[in-house]
Amino acid sequence: MALTRRAFLTLLAGTGLFAPGTAAASSVPAPPGGVFALAGVVYPGRGAPLPGHAVLVRDGRIEAVVPARAVTDRPVIAPVNAAILPGVINAHCHTLHSAQARRERWLLAGVTSIGDAASPLAALPALLDSPPGATATASACGPMLCPPGGYPLPVHSPEHALAVGSPREGAEAVRRLADLGVTRIKIAFEPGVLPRPWPLFDSATAAAVCDTARRLGLGVRCHVEDVSGLKPALDAGVSTVEHVPHRLREHGTVRPVLGPDGLPVPRYRALLERMARDGIIMTPTLDVFTRTPWNGPALFEPVRLFHALGGKVALGNDFPYRRTDAGMPVREMRLLAEAGLDRLAVLEAATAGAAEACGFANRGRIAPGMAADLLAVRGAPSPDALKDPLHIVKDGTFIR
Ligand SMILES: [Zn+2]
Repeated sequence: MALTRRAFLTLLAGTGLFAPGTAAASSVPAPPGGVFALAGVVYPGRGAPLPGHAVLVRDGRIEAVVPARAVTDRPVIAPVNAAILPGVINAHCHTLHSAQARRERWLLAGVTSIGDAASPLAALPALLDSPPGATATASACGPMLCPPGGYPLPVHSPEHALAVGSPREGAEAVRRLADLGVTRIKIAFEPGVLPRPWPLFDSATAAAVCDTARRLGLGVRCHVEDVSGLKPALDAGVSTVEHVPHRLREHGTVRPVLGPDGLPVPRYRALLERMARDGIIMTPTLDVFTRTPWNGPALFEPVRLFHALGGKVALGNDFPYRRTDAGMPVREMRLLAEAGLDRLAVLEAATAGAAEACGFANRGRIAPGMAADLLAVRGAPSPDALKDPLHIVKDGTFIR
């Protein structure tokens, strides 16, 4: 059904869509036919912003990005002084499994997708239920694969882990999780901080997990807090490093990861260079670690160096651990800025980078064919502006 611009404006006049700053109206109807344009300074998620552009949306997908003045075939929503950006993705969080909980705690705040970075098997059906336009889409790993007695078993409840003791068991567990619909696999190389280290995967089992996952099109996300776990993780073939490694266990003692010059020690630096070169993503989760005794340069300097080396960073805050918050992850954004990422780089980590970490091939960027997960914010997309988006669009549906 064709609709004139005037008719469209009239239709929306009572909805709050054109009244920036009004209270969230979660029941705002979608524009008729799902065909509209959202205009402003368009931030594609990767690359430079495009002033005076419009994102063309049809039936939940992005058709094109064009100069705003060229749009004549559809209603244009153009809030004054607005930035248009991809919906934010929290690439590393836990709990909030149901579609309803993800809608209320993530989507209504502008987080249009999340990466669940380990959850019990029983939570998978809820996580994999993401009706289009209604909730934050979830990427899910299911339970973490670990060696018998290894992390997370010493610190988390048993349903968060599946212990595998051989390459055959590792490959079988990956196939079983793939059959259940997971979109990523999660493993760990975590010796802990106690005098007696927790068991780690042998190289053959870790490689079998990663090889099987790759053949099934699944990336492997790897928990690494200790630099000693980084090389075996990279050797096995993981695709992301979850957390910024910030301690180093060696010969039974825990050593600093930074040298006297304040930079990561040479062996750590070499591994960060390898990650950057090979396109391995880091999800630093600074929000959760700044709430621990490790808070300090050991968290920030490796991220700063990795980013300076051209490494890909993904935003995630490890909600709900250590009282991190759901909703827009503004604290993680501010901490990434403190670690040397400029505003565009923080935005990329929160959109395109996070999408890549989660395996969302069609989300996290504003480009033709991508899902229309969009935010409009007032002014430049700073953490403060993101705290209160003017509009939230999910799969082409106006949520706010
Ligand atoms: Zn986590």
